[in-house]
Amino acid sequence: MEILPRTETIKNPATQFTGDVWLDVIAAPREPGQRMFVGRVRFAPGARTAWHSHALGQTLHVTQGIAWMGTRDGSKIVAHAGETIYCPAGEDHWHGAAPDSFMEHLAMIDHADDPATSTTWLEHVTDEHYLG
Ligand code: MN
Repeated sequence: MEILPRTETIKNPATQFTGDVWLDVIAAPREPGQRMFVGRVRFAPGARTAWHSHALGQTLHVTQGIAWMGTRDGSKIVAHAGETIYCPAGEDHWHGAAPDSFMEHLAMIDHADDPATSTTWLEHVTDEHYLG
């Protein structure tokens, strides 16, 4: 057993996020066969992911603020600290903060066989769609 060194907070790239979004990696595969990846993600008000999907699904646990999440059918989920959301494998979705609130969540995925295909990134979420 060991305590892991603290990792640097990473600014998420503008190609995949709108607004200021920061990532702290909490867990990543360390030994052969491991797939679990857990990140603490912090969104400024109005910030959100682009559309994307996860090959093996994703669990999101809101730890602070107000989260907005949407899917292609136009449905939107509003979630608060303490709530957990599951995104099924392969389902296009986005997640972010409400326009007037910071939001922090734990994002948990299993890596695909090829880790580069764990998340498929698509187009940005427009203001119209975000606010709609
Ligand atoms: Mn996601």
